[in-house]
Amino acid sequence: DSVGIYDVVIVGGGTAGLVIANRLSENSYTTVAVIEAGDLVFDNKNVSTVDGYGLSFGTEIDWQYESTPQAYAGNKTQTLRAGKALGGTSTINGMAYLRAQEAQINSWEHLGNEGWNWKSLLPYYKRSEHFQIPTEDQCIAGASYDISVHGTSGPLKTGWNTGLLGKSVTTLVNATYASLGLPYIEEPNGGVMRGFTRYPATVDRELNVREDAGRAYYLPIQNRTNLDLYTNSFVQRITWDETSTNSTPRANGVQFTDASGKQKTISAKKEVILSAGSLRSPLILELSGIGNPAILEQHGIDVKVDLPFVGENLQDQTTGAGAYSSNTNFSGAANYVGYFNVADIFGNGTYDLNCTVRDSLLQYATSVVEASGGIIDQKVMEKLFMIHYDLIFKDQIPISEILISPGEDQMAFSYWGLLPFSRGSVHIQSNDSTTPAAINPNYFQLDYDLKQQIGTAKAVRKLASSEALCDIVTGELSPGLQSVPLNASDEVWAKAVKEGYRSNYHYIATAAMMAQDLGGVVNTDLLVYGVDNVRVVDASVIPFQVCGHLTATIYAIAEKAADAIKSRYY
Ligand code: FAD
Repeated sequence: DSVGIYDVVIVGGGTAGLVIANRLSENSYTTVAVIEAGDLVFDNKNVSTVDGYGLSFGTEIDWQYESTPQAYAGNKTQTLRAGKALGGTSTINGMAYLRAQEAQINSWEHLGNEGWNWKSLLPYYKRSEHFQIPTEDQCIAGASYDISVHGTSGPLKTGWNTGLLGKSVTTLVNATYASLGLPYIEEPNGGVMRGFTRYPATVDRELNVREDAGRAYYLPIQNRTNLDLYTNSFVQRITWDETSTNSTPRANGVQFTDASGKQKTISAKKEVILSAGSLRSPLILELSGIGNPAILEQHGIDVKVDLPFVGENLQDQTTGAGAYSSNTNFSGAANYVGYFNVADIFGNGTYDLNCTVRDSLLQYATSVVEASGGIIDQKVMEKLFMIHYDLIFKDQIPISEILISPGEDQMAFSYWGLLPFSRGSVHIQSNDSTTPAAINPNYFQLDYDLKQQIGTAKAVRKLASSEALCDIVTGELSPGLQSVPLNASDEVWAKAVKEGYRSNYHYIATAAMMAQDLGGVVNTDLLVYGVDNVRVVDASVIPFQVCGHLTATIYAIAEKAADAIKSRYY
């Protein structure tokens, strides 16, 4: 039962998918369909409320996937959040608009992805953005920027919330970061991130609502007659053109269940684009016969393309929290961020850590190869880890992010490692698309990740007990001096870190843009290897973590991908 024929069918109307839908449908002769499992959420207050972070967690618009028990962290599972709505995860996220460090985008090119570097991505960051210049009051409260790195006429509104905490709090927080030697930076989105600043958000300042992908990329163009949206529709698999004489398989549409639960098909004349997110797009590939033959055969799926790295290379970060009681009530948006490099966190211990990690790279690679069941090559993994190591120790890009949120009776800190080495995977567990996947991020698999997180937890305690806060902070609530005394050993810290962590929800690389022999799934045009006309455009293609929060970079990647798609056909 077919719902129609389109040039392009996009699976997932999320952060990246709606960029593609918008840009491709600019050409009125190109017909585009978006199939989205969730619903419209423009009237959902859990989404639009600018200071409502967390309200949507556990509701019907949160996929709340569950990880497998985490072997290196007490065998507990983790809740992995992702948005199920038009706008995808941009409807439930923390709204931070932060890009990446120049060297880490350049590392994508060092991996062999020609044309993917900071300089070539910057115009796409700008193309997506509609930067709202801060008001005078916001500038006084610490909003700062360099206009040359921002876009002012793109679809996505960025800027600062109304109701920011004021200047005196900013001065206090800045002095707190400075107590650890961190410099102030005016602009975190220009490719240099180390320092502390007041970061912008994805927000529509005038309407005072969250700016998600739906509002930015779909709402203004919803009446285009060449663009159709199917909501509450769940895609199961790609369908293949069995009559094609091409030597490579050619997709001709997808199968899905519609809002009423009926089985439907939709046809694509040119391309199928998977934008279902890092924890879904690889599963749709597997269910369609693209992946590791051992996994596909186990579930009775015919192998269309032998592409063993589909679902591998999963990378996420871990978040920790520190909570301190305070004698002051603060209310208002914080947006205070500090980006610390390895020397900021480890000081005199940096040299020792450097030597330990360098000497461990081989063993790290071996662990990852073993965990993958031997499908990843040892030499390849060593090469990837060498690039990773250089980013941390040679380029000294930020390794830790610490947010300070002064609140009511409390000073809250959250922190995470930006560049964990650990790698996991996401795979189907059945040929039924509704069966939950096996999602294993392998948190704390490799000891650098734990060392980094312990170092950062200690830095948080130092910040909280700095002179700047001594008149305000009255005690430590979490982790608490009872469980982690002042002179606690690293073993004690490790226990607290592993007991208290959660996913940072920055899942990437499960269909990585890399050469095939490095473990890649898509090429530099984001076309899946071995297939004529299927692309993946979402966080799955990001090969290495970025220091920013992911959406800024995903919007830019999708803008660049849209250009690649247009240039193939027009
Ligand atoms: P998504 O935006 O998740 O889009 C995927 C879409 O596909 C969804 O709409 C989904 O419903 C749909 N879909 C999935 N499967 C199917 C199917 N089978 N059929 C049809 N549709 C399907 N990033 C930031 O930049 N700043 C932040 O402050 C920030 N905070 C975060 C906080 C949380 C709680 C979370 C979870 C993430 C956060 N992130 C943040 C990360 C960021 O929001 C995501 O990485 C990003 O939005 C992912 O974009 P995507 O296009 O890859 O996927």
